[in-house]
Amino acid sequence: MIRCRDIHKRFGTLEVLRGIDLDIAQGEVAAIVGPSGAGKTTLLQILGTLSQPDGGTVEIAGQTVGSLRAGELVRLRNERIGFVFQFHHLLPEFTALENVMIPALIGRRPRAAAQKRADELLELLGVGHRATHKPAELSGGEQQRVAVARALVNDPAVVFADEPSGNLDSVNREELHRLFFRLRDRFGYTFVIVTHDNDLAAMSDRRIAMRDGLIVSESE
Ligand code: ADP
Repeated sequence: MIRCRDIHKRFGTLEVLRGIDLDIAQGEVAAIVGPSGAGKTTLLQILGTLSQPDGGTVEIAGQTVGSLRAGELVRLRNERIGFVFQFHHLLPEFTALENVMIPALIGRRPRAAAQKRADELLELLGVGHRATHKPAELSGGEQQRVAVARALVNDPAVVFADEPSGNLDSVNREELHRLFFRLRDRFGYTFVIVTHDNDLAAMSDRRIAMRDGLIVSESE
């Protein structure tokens, strides 16, 4: 599902990624771990096509990212990739349902179909009863579930998550982690998750440990 080779990235004189090779299969839950400043977020952003590497290649779902035209890149990002961040980034003036529908509408899905899919996802993620509420009226755990629903609305090939449970208490954190595995088991989604959470890392199919811009170990 993901293949990257010899990824390099620098910010000014700082070499943040120094040659990353990584393959992630469909249906894997992979945790990227390591100390702050190791380059985890930078790698996730490059894999997620939000940032361009200075060198190396990234393939997502069979498409070579560097060779895509602007329109193709936007389509890949919107239709094949989902994102979940530490802070939910839901739009405050829209309801939970509308927040989940928006990427589907951007993807030109008919409104009725987008709403049906969003409704089903909110129900599946246990927040169906909160569909008409705005983000500020939801708990932190509910907000993150809505953010996961939004990430899944276009049925992506892979979901990238950057510290998705970093802002949650331990009960909500555990629930969110269980949800990732349930979604993987039921639907075969692929998750790549940057995390400091040892429990999540231990549960994952793979732990990819980074340090100083390199992958220093991988365990299965
Ligand atoms: P991690 O996620 O492992 O904590 P990051 O990928 O966020 O690491 O950052 C790696 C290094 O790159 C850090 O030293 C950080 O300060 C630096 N960095 C990240 N993004 C930028 C940027 N946009 N401009 C300059 N330096 C950056």
